[in-house]
Amino acid sequence: MQSSNYTSELTGIEPHALHARVEALLAEAIAIRRDIHAHPELAFEETRTSEIVASRLEKFGLAPRRNFGRTGVVAMIEGGRSGPCVGFRVDMDALPVQTTTTAAYRSRYDGKMHACGHDMHIAIGLGVAEILAGIEGGFPGRVKMIFQPAEETVEGALAMIADGVLEDPKLHAILGLHNSPDIEAGLVGYLPRTAMAGADVFDISVTGVGGHASQPDRCIDALSAACDMATALRGLVARELPPAKTAVLTIGSLAAGTVRNVVAAHAELKGTLRTLDPESAPVIEAAVRRVAAGLAAATRTKIEVAWSRVAPVLANDPAALKKALAGVAWAIGADNIVELEKPSMGAEDFAFFAERVPAAHLRIGSGRRPFAHALHRANFDIEERSIGTAIQASVGAIWALLGCALKHNREAENAATK
Ligand SMILES: [Zn+2]
Ligand SMILES: [Zn+2]
Repeated sequence: MQSSNYTSELTGIEPHALHARVEALLAEAIAIRRDIHAHPELAFEETRTSEIVASRLEKFGLAPRRNFGRTGVVAMIEGGRSGPCVGFRVDMDALPVQTTTTAAYRSRYDGKMHACGHDMHIAIGLGVAEILAGIEGGFPGRVKMIFQPAEETVEGALAMIADGVLEDPKLHAILGLHNSPDIEAGLVGYLPRTAMAGADVFDISVTGVGGHASQPDRCIDALSAACDMATALRGLVARELPPAKTAVLTIGSLAAGTVRNVVAAHAELKGTLRTLDPESAPVIEAAVRRVAAGLAAATRTKIEVAWSRVAPVLANDPAALKKALAGVAWAIGADNIVELEKPSMGAEDFAFFAERVPAAHLRIGSGRRPFAHALHRANFDIEERSIGTAIQASVGAIWALLGCALKHNREAENAATK
């Protein structure tokens, strides 16, 4: 491929022209975000939301596939010439949170809220689709727009993969993003390798023999064994993983017994593990099972461990990230990119795509000073101009992932450096 052939056709999306395009559609993008914010839908219930997405995509001349991964939407933007296929994934679901915001666009539905900003992600996805579908003369390759349901329950990505989102044609690379209220609007953050934690969950059930509280010798105390189990697990990470590895194991629930004068016959512990290296979770899982077997023998209880991996570690592909960041720098300027210090210990099911396709994940600054908002909090809101930054950055990143030349606008560049 000779990139020089393409540059002359890219005048429609030189950085300053792209900026002007985004400025022109920003008011509509904000209106879409507010409408979706006011009408939040939970995981796999995103029917109104997907219909808005699909009908907007049809307006841009695309042929979206509805009900993909149950309530998701997929649309292909054909560049018209040979080249790679790049995926762009945004998530669409809301959370079961009762809003406390007083904004005019606050949630109309009791107990449901876009408290993670996926409403903003949808507006970004639609803005990107509108720009890419409208590039005169097309572009080399194609872009698969992936509007995913059910991120919060970590089910939507797998549902879309099961429906074949990564096939026909296969993706060469995929771009994902999430807003961050801790980063100032106008900036785009990234992590060089591990972006978000892997999450595992486990249930430990302890069975003993109940009986009179005055006769513990004739019983097997499940409550006491469960307490030993909780204590043993508290120090496990520090003793099983090298000190430089980050992981956190939390037992969030311990339930046992019924009344004060009966030895508990049953106890149940529920916990979660977050890890930043793919090798860490199997090490901890094996150790928890070993401790359970040992404690069962020591206490004469029966201890069963049910373990499941909820989401893998989300790791950027170094080559894909490098390309994507070059595109972001081209679109919004390198000064507006920040390397983040710490990966989030939260999990994100974009990791299932990143396990299968070279991926880049961006953190879109959506924060307002003073930083008063946090994800999943009842007062969550964003600085809406960040939607514009995100559209620009995403188009730049996708452009670079397609392998297109990044033509700089010398006049704008010179003006900016004066
Ligand atoms: Zn969330
Ligand atoms: Zn989220």
